[in-house]
Amino acid sequence: MDTYEPIIGLEIHVELKTKSGMFCGCPADHFGKKPNTGTCPVCLGLPGALPVPNKKAVEWTIMLGLALGSTIAEVSKFDRKHYFYPDLPKGYQISQYDQPLCRGGMVPTSFGDVRIHRVHLEEDTGKLQHATVDGKRVTLVDFNRSGVPLVEIVTEADIRSAEQAKEFLKKLHQIVRYLGISDADMEKGSMRLEPNISLRKIGEKGLPPYKVEVKNINSFRFAERAINYELERHARMLDEGKIPLQETRGWDEAKNATVSQRTKEEAADYRYFPEPDIPPMRFTQQMITNIQSTIPELPDAKLTRFTKDFGLNNQDASLLIESQELADYFEEAVKVATGRTNFSPKDIANWIINRKPDIDAVMPAKFIESMREAKEVVAVSDKDLFAVIDKVLAENAKAVADYKAGKQQSAMFLMGLVRRQLPKSDTKLILDTLRKSLDST
Ligand code: MN
Repeated sequence: MDTYEPIIGLEIHVELKTKSGMFCGCPADHFGKKPNTGTCPVCLGLPGALPVPNKKAVEWTIMLGLALGSTIAEVSKFDRKHYFYPDLPKGYQISQYDQPLCRGGMVPTSFGDVRIHRVHLEEDTGKLQHATVDGKRVTLVDFNRSGVPLVEIVTEADIRSAEQAKEFLKKLHQIVRYLGISDADMEKGSMRLEPNISLRKIGEKGLPPYKVEVKNINSFRFAERAINYELERHARMLDEGKIPLQETRGWDEAKNATVSQRTKEEAADYRYFPEPDIPPMRFTQQMITNIQSTIPELPDAKLTRFTKDFGLNNQDASLLIESQELADYFEEAVKVATGRTNFSPKDIANWIINRKPDIDAVMPAKFIESMREAKEVVAVSDKDLFAVIDKVLAENAKAVADYKAGKQQSAMFLMGLVRRQLPKSDTKLILDTLRKSLDST
């Protein structure tokens, strides 16, 4: 393995959470719905049905491109990509070939920058279901997903390890979620990962003479495993003087291995040609500027600001910006605490990270209030609790004797007396400390 260098690129498909389909009015939210209930002549590919592009899907793809630093096309168009598969009713997928919406861009990772090759828009396919009907093993087709807007992001082959691939994928996932254009839920298949992998001898330039693509991986962990599995497989073959076959493979969870699916098509096999039913799209600078203005502060910028403005270390800031909701929660909590408490942003960050409040249920103001109370409890226990307990026990000899004789309620009575002098303190803490004192006298 030391003699080779991994050359890895990624293709990522992300389903957009628009209300309607890419080229029709069917609901784009297909997950868990009764099969074939959200379809129409357009997404079923019936003769004569005409596609009309979804404006929101186009804007969101441009928005993602801008967030990744891509150049947005002034003119872009859709193309037909032909292949035969039962989940593709038209016999072709409407995609983009030579004029994608976005080109270029870059995502920095701690291992080095990963350049974006292109970002384009297409439609999702239906879904095959394998089942047994009347004792026969059959394959059924559910077309609810057919025609759901799908963005494809293609990177350059800049990735040099499975760890880097994973970091890149997590960052992309976070950006997509920040933009609010997709749930990017890996388990539901709304973000699907396809690494392409090859090895070259260290010191060699140019791309290796082959690459292996692993299709439709649905978790970061599986992507990492599939890449490492392939890297080892290729190294073994290259050591034996063989060149791995250019092919498409799948990740088999049960076997913890990749399995061959088919040899890879070339672009020519798809017989791409311009979609004749959809005119080319033109974008003015004004349209792109308008979309740019809707982009929220992105994770990397937020991370920098949190470390700079709040004096947080990189690790804590990373945890807080994991989701936009958590980051907002932290900022709101800091705002509430400022002037009313002497908690520093660092204190608040620690509390949020350690206590993991339910940010949907506990408002930031309430959280700061609980933090304040808890801090006072700690102060009381340190300084005064033992002193007050000693005093109460000395002044209430009868109650102490009753307790010793087995009268448990006496402890509650004594606790009430302690609590009257320390109203902010924690009931359980008083009772525990009181019992200890009683048992040791
Ligand atoms: Mn695609």
